[in-house]
Amino acid sequence: MKTKKIKDLLIGSNNAGKVREIKQLLPRYIRVSSIIDYKIKSPKENGKTFLQNSLIKSKYFSKKTGKICLADDSGLEIDILNKKPGIFSARWGGKKNNFNLAIKKVFKELNKADKNWRKKRITARFICALSIYGPNIKKIYSIGKIEGRISNKKIGKNGFGYDPIFIPNRKTNTFGQMKFKDKFKIDHRARAFIKIKKFL
Ligand code: IMP
Repeated sequence: MKTKKIKDLLIGSNNAGKVREIKQLLPRYIRVSSIIDYKIKSPKENGKTFLQNSLIKSKYFSKKTGKICLADDSGLEIDILNKKPGIFSARWGGKKNNFNLAIKKVFKELNKADKNWRKKRITARFICALSIYGPNIKKIYSIGKIEGRISNKKIGKNGFGYDPIFIPNRKTNTFGQMKFKDKFKIDHRARAFIKIKKFL
């Protein structure tokens, strides 16, 4: 479904790192604001999938502000952990969204699942579900993925979240070692954006 050109877009995320990435992925003619400027708290993410949670956010923030809202829900799936942390990726960082804590929990869970995991290829992927919701706009959404593996130690100081432990396929460095300008061209969010751009 083709909608009218969107000129104003509210980004439904309180995560400054994500908002920065999203801004750079949008066409320049779109005026971007974020819920950080509106000081709106996020709704409860009680969906069962990335897409459901993304839609919970885009609907909620759109209804609160009357604006067209783009929200994402993203996270890391680790196969040997039955796709955990998955939709709980942010929550593994505790109330303060502490990424060190989240990475410690990943290592703890991997140790529980297989003592020798550091010697094995631990397949994983980042997933991003984007959705746009707003007045006169029916549900628009897309999903992007990037496959890779878990590093046996935390490496790199760039990025956020699980970046220092994720090595994309065909690369030797973690996202945490990559420059922002290189990571954001190939990651799950970029891939979801390529698909959703045709609606903008
Ligand atoms: P959301 O705000 O519910 O989408 O939470 C996503 C969580 O997944 C973040 O807090 C990060 O922990 C993790 N995550 C998502 N995308 C990335 C990424 O590009 N790099 C590192 N971690 C990410």
